[in-house]
Amino acid sequence: MRLQLLPSTFEENGTASARQHLTSFVIDDCVAFDAGSLAMASSRVQKEQIRDIVLSHAHLDHIAGLPLFLDDLFASLTEPVRIYAEAEVVKVLERDIFNWSVYPRFSELTNANGSVMEYRCFEPGAEFKVRHLNVQTVSVNHKVPSSGFIVSDDSSKFALTGDTASMSEFWNVVNKIDDLSAVLVECAFPDELEELAHISHHLTPSSLQRELAKFKRGNCPIYVANLKPAYYEKTAAQIAALGIANLSLLEVGRIYEW
Ligand SMILES: [Zn+2]
Repeated sequence: MRLQLLPSTFEENGTASARQHLTSFVIDDCVAFDAGSLAMASSRVQKEQIRDIVLSHAHLDHIAGLPLFLDDLFASLTEPVRIYAEAEVVKVLERDIFNWSVYPRFSELTNANGSVMEYRCFEPGAEFKVRHLNVQTVSVNHKVPSSGFIVSDDSSKFALTGDTASMSEFWNVVNKIDDLSAVLVECAFPDELEELAHISHHLTPSSLQRELAKFKRGNCPIYVANLKPAYYEKTAAQIAALGIANLSLLEVGRIYEW
């Protein structure tokens, strides 16, 4: 399985920035988990192949690229883009984004080949198939209804927390899996912003350390994502200072293969 965290912004010289403003993970160039920068940063091949998008929650940094992705592909689609999300997330998308005021309601539109977008609602804790992947969802602890995921194909399996604060169910599920290739966990704010992290339901390096104490990790690599760009250096230094084996930052744009 190949995983890439798409870039979201650019350096002054035009190269992709290592900082993560938006969240979109692409698996095997054909399934997206979140769509923060999907329209802006996906490759030509990814645009041609991605017709399945799984959403963790409806916060803007996870869906910002979705309306534009659908818009870009509108005329060329020969099948609808399938959006997998909890019903509450779909409700927010239809009410606040695809409402004709912010953007067209693509779920009601057709092109010459038929529907261009359809929703596949899942219940918290559901397991379902997306292309060649098995997806198990786990509710996590964020400000709004949010899911983490355990994603597997025939040969490997990884876990993704999505945006979250302290959790128990996610670790209970993950600890039952003995052949995990990687865990991707969020850490948005430095320790100095513990109060803000608490209010917005995110992790800091200190609370990340407490979370990882719940993980019977063995040698499983752990990658940290979702560092807020404004505090990147400070948060990265505090994560490094934890001195946890197998813990590293997930690099924007890099392709990980398990
Ligand atoms: Zn969020």
